[in-house]
Amino acid sequence: MNAKNRKERTVDSESISGILRRTIAENGRDHIGGYAFAILCLAVVATTTGFTAWIMEIVVNEAFANKRADIVLLICGAIFFAFLLRGLATYGQAVALSKIGNNIVARYQQRLHDHLMALSVGYFHEHRSAQFAAKISQNISGIRNLLNMTVTSVARDLLTLIGLVGVMFSKDWLLSLLVFFVAPPLLLGLRYVSKRLRAATREAVEVNSRVLGAMQETIQGISIVKAFTMEHELRRKVEAIIDRAENRANRIARLSERTAPMTETFAGLAISSVLAYAAFRTIYSNIPPGAFFAFVAALLMAYDPARRLARLQVSLERAAVNARMIYEILDTVPHQRDRPDATELTIHEATVELREVRFAYGSGDEILKGVSFRAEGGKTTALVGPSGAGKSTIISLIPRFYDPKSGQILIDGQDIATVTKQSLRNGLAYVSQQPYLFEGSIRDNIRYGRPDATDAEIEEAARLAYAHEFILAQPQGYDTPVGEHGVTLSGGQRQRLSIARALVRNAPILLLDEATSALDTESETAVQKALDHAMSGRTVIVIAHRLSTIVNADKIVVMSDGRVAEEGTHGELARRPDGLYARLHNDCDAKSDFS
Ligand code: ATP
Repeated sequence: MNAKNRKERTVDSESISGILRRTIAENGRDHIGGYAFAILCLAVVATTTGFTAWIMEIVVNEAFANKRADIVLLICGAIFFAFLLRGLATYGQAVALSKIGNNIVARYQQRLHDHLMALSVGYFHEHRSAQFAAKISQNISGIRNLLNMTVTSVARDLLTLIGLVGVMFSKDWLLSLLVFFVAPPLLLGLRYVSKRLRAATREAVEVNSRVLGAMQETIQGISIVKAFTMEHELRRKVEAIIDRAENRANRIARLSERTAPMTETFAGLAISSVLAYAAFRTIYSNIPPGAFFAFVAALLMAYDPARRLARLQVSLERAAVNARMIYEILDTVPHQRDRPDATELTIHEATVELREVRFAYGSGDEILKGVSFRAEGGKTTALVGPSGAGKSTIISLIPRFYDPKSGQILIDGQDIATVTKQSLRNGLAYVSQQPYLFEGSIRDNIRYGRPDATDAEIEEAARLAYAHEFILAQPQGYDTPVGEHGVTLSGGQRQRLSIARALVRNAPILLLDEATSALDTESETAVQKALDHAMSGRTVIVIAHRLSTIVNADKIVVMSDGRVAEEGTHGELARRPDGLYARLHNDCDAKSDFS
């Protein structure tokens, strides 16, 4: 069993109390004041409820049996006051608990976001992003419910129950004892239900995440869906998952609602036997009915909190499943932490060198089989080769998205495994094939390259990236929102923004995955000019597709099946008649695209 499975087992097998203890330890202390206030309010709710039952004896005996008109108003006033107090206390506890709950949700969201950013790139490749996000959003409320349900149940229901049982015992202790004979079988039944609910809830979250994930993927890929008329196929696939989700939800409903007939049956048994016994006793002896009336009122009122408490384990089980799934993410240890003795990377010439680098994704086949080459400082090195040769993999090893299995990557003689990732990445700028724009303005998106860049520097970068003109033509210029809900930008415009982002970073090393997607000639010329600016004076490692980039590169590294097949300048390589480069070059002679 691998380490991940072992860890999941541990979290999953953790009991409700274990999960609860952890959640309280992580959140309880910061909310002690709020919880104390909520508990006080809940104690008021419990006391006033007990009082309402207790006063029934006086109502029956004094007002009805003894016909004492003088105390009727007093009693009614007291009852009204008790209800008023209960209303205020209920409001107070609900607001206090909601505020704490909202804060807990916010804190876990922040923790999760921070933690996700600390996890390695490989972790995200193992999970489908849309499903993953859906799972987080479904589960996060579990932690809030876990704590709030416990506080509410313990403070309100348990206190109310204790108060009412106190009233029952004070009125008739023998009858009170009789009530409890139903408890053991009921608890056993509920335990059985909650155990089965655990697996069903986990499965339901997984299936629901698949449903939500499928919807998100359809939305994201809507143009492909339509272009390939995938509607029918997708509908069939999603329908099956939705069916499963519906089945799971029904199963959960059947399981958790099974508690209702159980509690109702046992409660009915207890209440009817007690009533029968008490009624016969009153009929055949001359005890005044007041005490019995108060007893019955307390018993009936106790039913609700008792039922809720009995169901608590079942409700907590569902919340605990959610909390466990959140903890599984939070407990995933980020790989590739900086070494304890990691130093800061200092860059002078910005020469990048790979020495005998071997790499495989996870436990898969070896993708890089001993790659060595040198990208000279301030020069452009183009990676070319057939698809799947390992070019993108090389690019992703340099910012340490992944670590090589063996071999070294050196920047100015410093092994990147021995420096801090922060200092390493500060020295790099990356332009990917598919430019990603984040929610925010155009200015924000360029500024992500360097958060302390001034507005003037941002505009300068945009000018160099041939983006300034089209940015000004947008409705709010640099402040125009982009990203999912922002303006629609063309592929070339997006690329120029991402080049501007790289330019503003002003890093000595540029990693570039040249776009293969066809742009119109005008846009392509603009993107090419922007790239020329980005590349000048830097060490550039480019996965090159365009013939012009390759021909102008200072060095070409030809990759084939995870190895360096050849290296040299265009002139040198093109002259080798049997070389891979010459073959690739001849193949694409008629095109301008080398891929
Ligand atoms: P292309 O020009 O098509 O982008 P490439 O030369 O850049 O190809 P890579 O993307 O580095 O090639 O892929 C090399 C091999 O690694 C391929 O066989 C691919 O299937 C595999 N691979 C790439 N990314 C992953 C990943 N995240 N997990 C597992 N295998 C991967």
